[in-house]
Amino acid sequence: MRHIAIIGSGPAGYYTAEALQKAGDIAIDVIDRLPVPYGLIRTGVAPDHQSIKAVSKRYESVALTDNVRFVGHVAVGTDVSIDELAQLYDAVVLATGAPDDRPLGIPGADLPGVIGSAAFVGWYNGHPDFAGLNPPFDTRGVVVIGNGNVALDVARILSKTPAELVGSDIVAHARTALAASAVQRIHILGRRGPHQIAMTPKELGELGHLERASPRVDPADLPDVGDDALLEPGMRKSVTHLRSFAANPVARPVTIEFDFFAMPVAIEGDGQVQRVIVERTTLDADLRSVSTGERYTIDAGLVIACIGYQTPPIPGVPYEHGRGRFANDEGRILPGLYCVGWARRGPSGTIGTNKPDGARVAEMVLEDVGRGAGKAGRPGLDALLASRGVTPVTFRDWRKIDAAEIANALDGNPREKFVSVDAMLVAARQ
Ligand code: NAP
Repeated sequence: MRHIAIIGSGPAGYYTAEALQKAGDIAIDVIDRLPVPYGLIRTGVAPDHQSIKAVSKRYESVALTDNVRFVGHVAVGTDVSIDELAQLYDAVVLATGAPDDRPLGIPGADLPGVIGSAAFVGWYNGHPDFAGLNPPFDTRGVVVIGNGNVALDVARILSKTPAELVGSDIVAHARTALAASAVQRIHILGRRGPHQIAMTPKELGELGHLERASPRVDPADLPDVGDDALLEPGMRKSVTHLRSFAANPVARPVTIEFDFFAMPVAIEGDGQVQRVIVERTTLDADLRSVSTGERYTIDAGLVIACIGYQTPPIPGVPYEHGRGRFANDEGRILPGLYCVGWARRGPSGTIGTNKPDGARVAEMVLEDVGRGAGKAGRPGLDALLASRGVTPVTFRDWRKIDAAEIANALDGNPREKFVSVDAMLVAARQ
């Protein structure tokens, strides 16, 4: 029998488990520090993108197979160390994602009211770590930094009316706070231009169909239309959306302004963010942004930096600081230690990108562990956790949490998520 521990129950973790469990004679433990599974599907994917979240059904069917077990509410590093797991299992796979915000690194970035997207997205998605975030919505201006899909998610959620959020699983505290929001002007800052965005067409197109908000693009920022022919088809579609926003500015109570060639250089305010100082940029021959020296100011009481994520380092595990991920060779970190998903390749790609990634790492693991080394595996972990007074949350327990969340749903929403670990545990232990 081969014993595998996967740390992290998000898409990368479950796709890896799915590929591994097909190998038969194998026992896989998917360990998560939260009492609830599915990682970014639960706390990262936008609450109004329920069709994307439906992939959790697939992970559930993996979790329900005999050789896969969910071990929730067990924190690696606190309840059990990586070294201990390496003693107990033939292979340990880090599927821990990239939950930390990349630092903005400009003066004023630590002012109250400056929030990273991991925190903001976690807050509206009910991640227990961010339940107390309380973003200031008593401001007319908001600056969203970054030109990726997370910036779009954030701008869209900030703009939607309560009616538009019906059918989402946004948590009650966010729904209430957003309903009382004074926000009227959202600036999305891109340090480069429309041809350098990292936004996908479907997500960009959604901005054109909001009830009370409309996107604005300055036509002067758009390259010659003929240059779009050089773009790959998806990017061309995205740019076509931008052209349509530029050509059809619609008057609505909330505007979403695309500020291209706009690099934030400082955030200022008296004990709280009040304005962002922005430098206009141009592109060099390598399409990098370079400053023109020209500056302008945007008044804003809330700044949300959507500039990418990083994997937190783990003591003793080789780490690539520049890229914010574990140092690895196609998923191999050290003998018996692997990584997959964002922890392996950095924070890029869609949920589906993790499927081939998980399959590749599973193949490597199976090749390396052979028939297994007779390690203690599950019973060993159970004994160790019991000796420390740690009672894991099982998949059965999670289904009780799941049922309670569905039963608590309000206003036509699919569920009302628990936002504290204690509340999750109460539901799990019923
Ligand atoms: P991303 O796609 O890497 O975009 C990050 C953006 O931040 C880029 O526009 C980047 O500009 C900018 N940026 C980085 N550092 C900056 C700085 N110091 N100052 C100003 N701008 C800076 O990251 P993301 O939006 O966090 O998304 C992560 C991944 O999740 C992506 O693969 C994304 O597609 C995926 N995702 C998908 C969906 C969906 O499919 N619905 C939703 C959310 C996220 P430069 O290009 O100039 O570096």
